[in-house]
Amino acid sequence: DRVAPKRALISLSDKTGLEDAARTLHDLGVELVSTGGTRAAIAGFGLPVKDVADLTGFPEMMDGRVKTLHPVVHGGLLGVRDEPSHAQAMSEHNIGGIDIAWIDLYPFEATVASGGGFEAAVENIDIGGPAMIRSASKNHGYVAVCVDKDAVDQVLEALKAEGATSLELRKRLAARAFARTAAYDAAVSGWFAGQVGDAAPARKSIAGALAQTLRYGENPHQTGAFYRTGEPRPGVANARQLQGKALGYNNIADADAAYELVAEFEAPACVIVKHANPCGVAVGSDLTEAYARALECDAVSAFGGVIAVNRTLTGADAKLITDIFTEVVIAPGADEEAQNIFAAKKNLRLLLTEGLPDPLAAGEVFRSVAGGFLVQGRDRSRIAASDLKIVTRRAPTPQEIEDMLFAFTVAKHVKSNAIVYAKDGQTAGIGAGQMNRRDSARIAAIRAREAGEAKGLAHSLAQGSACASEAFFPFADGLLEAVAAGATAVIQPGGSIRDEEVIAAADEQGVAMAFTGVRVFRH
Ligand code: 5GP
Repeated sequence: DRVAPKRALISLSDKTGLEDAARTLHDLGVELVSTGGTRAAIAGFGLPVKDVADLTGFPEMMDGRVKTLHPVVHGGLLGVRDEPSHAQAMSEHNIGGIDIAWIDLYPFEATVASGGGFEAAVENIDIGGPAMIRSASKNHGYVAVCVDKDAVDQVLEALKAEGATSLELRKRLAARAFARTAAYDAAVSGWFAGQVGDAAPARKSIAGALAQTLRYGENPHQTGAFYRTGEPRPGVANARQLQGKALGYNNIADADAAYELVAEFEAPACVIVKHANPCGVAVGSDLTEAYARALECDAVSAFGGVIAVNRTLTGADAKLITDIFTEVVIAPGADEEAQNIFAAKKNLRLLLTEGLPDPLAAGEVFRSVAGGFLVQGRDRSRIAASDLKIVTRRAPTPQEIEDMLFAFTVAKHVKSNAIVYAKDGQTAGIGAGQMNRRDSARIAAIRAREAGEAKGLAHSLAQGSACASEAFFPFADGLLEAVAAGATAVIQPGGSIRDEEVIAAADEQGVAMAFTGVRVFRH
């Protein structure tokens, strides 16, 4: 099952790493064949290289749309060398076998990400590249296919060690290559659906390129893997990990939850997530203050959590954050001093991204069910003061309105049933994931009381807070729990058949209440 390669076809849009690899292949006695730009680059390194056009007898044409789509190329990639009829066809038509195919693809994803227009995106849909990658992958019995530099390095290592590639290696390379073309097509189809205003997310196929095989899934007895869809949105999938152990399944999920929430805020903000729910959220004049205030909400839960911020981390922030054990920190940047302080915590994973995820960006959310999957558009809702309908006799104060909006934004990111108490840009208590709303209100109240105690206050941290409920109060009981916890203002979607009863209870308590008209369930 060993193949000692004689000829390699290299066709790359991104020529990074080409010189060393081409030179090594040449030194190992492998003949090089290339398309226009790649051929010129290799010739520029002073290495002998054949032009694909000389093999096909056709020039590249139609702005490069047709370069390698020819039986000489695809026969060389697809021919089963040990099958007599194939071997005969190859010799009859003068088709030389291609044993290594190293091909990236036109940078479609990058073109779309950089805001290139419709025409530019279409012209960057590679046709010949995926065709060759698929031909080479199908014929993994004879061909080693490389879709990235890491794959090339594996092939070069095998050639240096034993002058040949193994079937096992070629199969692994083929699997990776098919994942790449699938992700590429998914990027194209997703983008195209968006261009024609096709809102039906079900038309979008889920496909991604394997980013990482995880040690395990949610639990050690489950397998896990992480795929990148090529969606150009900044976030955990496109983050750079600067340090720490490999990310786990739960780390990635929690980092995502934290980062999506922190990106909702304009002011310097910090979110601490535990088990997919925020346990503390706050804004501040800087990140140090935001972190300290987020921690204050529930310092017990914050232990071993995931921290997300929406600004570049400084040394002062890093010093404070490393005071307690944290699994992951995700940020749009960290200055040198911060990086040095984090570096002392070997196990802490530091993730940096290029910019923040846009909360208003379109996108899909997936969830599997037995025998199928559900797809929905991202929750892009955002409630402003002008959207609020005041339903109580007492109107909220400007400060209460600010607290309401902050609390409702957080509630959108808390598992239902969600109750959030917040005051002055700080969560005071969060109740998540309960099967009835009253219990969520109670749990949030316990958190707020303990946070008040920890701070040495004579009252709960929720004293004078706004209470957000991500869906309507079906009865007055949840609202009364919130009032007992210290809330003086309530924000909720409204729309219950018992709204009148709930409004009457609020009026009786002197509470100001606003309806958003928008429900933000998260299950
Ligand atoms: P080069 O810079 O060598 O001229 O072009 C390299 C790029 O061309 C690679 O990204 C490769 O995937 C792509 N490519 C190779 N053959 C074809 C073809 O026949 N049609 C199209 N559209 N792209 C091709």
